[in-house]
Amino acid sequence: MNILIIGSGGREHALAWKIAQSPLVDTIWCAPGSPAIDLLGPCFDVAADDVEGIQKLALQLEPDLIVIGPEAPLAKGLADMLRARGFDVFGPSQAAAQLEASKGFAKDRMAAYGVPTARYGRFTDVAAAKAFLDTLSAPFVLKADGLAAGKGVVIAGTREEAEAELSDMLSGKFGGASAELVIEEFMEGEEASIFVITDGINYLTLPAAQDHKRIGDGDTGPNTGGMGAYAPAPVMTPELMKRVEDEVTVPMLRGMAGDGMPYRGVLYIGVMVTPDGPKVVEFNCRFGDPECQVLMMQLEADIVPLLLAASTGGMRASEFAQLLPMDANPKPAVTVVMAAPGYPGTPEKGSVIRNLHHAGHGEGVMIFHAGTALDADGNFIANGGRVLNVTATGDTLREAVDRAYAAITEIDWPEGVYRRDIGWRALI
Ligand code: ATP
Repeated sequence: MNILIIGSGGREHALAWKIAQSPLVDTIWCAPGSPAIDLLGPCFDVAADDVEGIQKLALQLEPDLIVIGPEAPLAKGLADMLRARGFDVFGPSQAAAQLEASKGFAKDRMAAYGVPTARYGRFTDVAAAKAFLDTLSAPFVLKADGLAAGKGVVIAGTREEAEAELSDMLSGKFGGASAELVIEEFMEGEEASIFVITDGINYLTLPAAQDHKRIGDGDTGPNTGGMGAYAPAPVMTPELMKRVEDEVTVPMLRGMAGDGMPYRGVLYIGVMVTPDGPKVVEFNCRFGDPECQVLMMQLEADIVPLLLAASTGGMRASEFAQLLPMDANPKPAVTVVMAAPGYPGTPEKGSVIRNLHHAGHGEGVMIFHAGTALDADGNFIANGGRVLNVTATGDTLREAVDRAYAAITEIDWPEGVYRRDIGWRALI
């Protein structure tokens, strides 16, 4: 069969790499893809969120399955448009993708289905928002309702800061994304990411991952799209995973299906482990980047039957459950992000990266490309903020981490910036 992947980052490189290993697959196509993905299968220069262009491409290529990586095309309804043309698509409908695209929608669904999360209010009016602050204590959590490229959440330490921030947000700090705000209670605890693959009724849960959002070692400095990740995250004990399944996954999937918005694809559940148990911080409607890189390295099973079953639906529960013969102790894996200098501000593009081929040949190591291009001499160069995802598995997390950092020392890219402490919570 032939599979079209939508997207261009490290997440899509990891998906393409994993999908390419399936004996069921003849050809992989990707749009827009990247020079690294092009080594696995032809890439087409159509932007991921160009929903018209992607439909045209799909009609031309006639893939047997389309896997949508990023959230923007899902929020624009690409999955519905492609399904309406008869394609099998891995990714939720526009209605279901609102779980990520509108934080207020997600909170309302959680409230309706009794899913544990922070107490909240939705606001378009400054006075009402300020009045709600009276019912909370510092720190205050303010969230732009819409998609804001991971920047739409502000945690304000004082009442003054919260009031100033909410006025800025409602008057367009994040454009249309912050025309409405969610204000919520601050939750104390450790965070983890849980990925559920589902056809809307049946589901399978992948090992819990943890990412590292801050640019600097020891979780310091500004937030980024993620500087590294690892799985499994020991904070999510089997008991906590069971609680998330019973208290979040099951009611969300049942509720969404019951409300005529069955959720198909991968549901990313961002969880805070609070003293009162796991509570939902956010949902995303796609794989996390860079968590996906770790999960693809870890997965021993063929991913294609699982992606297909989640796309088409209708499989019996007993059959669906067998698609992922998860080992009780999945192999630890880690990814370390190498970024261009300047990131998460304006990254410097163009520096040459050498010795990638050799560095990627270490035992248990894979280097996924998040933002590279080729120069006129055929060298990979930095072409984005996050540039490389140096990923490794091992018998222990320590071994995986050592392998990833050993590979980094082999990469000849003096400009590359990375954290030295990825996985620290699980290693102390
Ligand atoms: P992402 O880039 O992770 O998709 P986002 O913009 O969608 O981010 P959230 O995940 O909702 O926003 O929030 C970003 C971060 O802010 C969370 O990972 C968490 O660390 C913190 N946060 C959000 N809500 C709360 C809360 N109620 N209490 C404490 N911290 C919170």
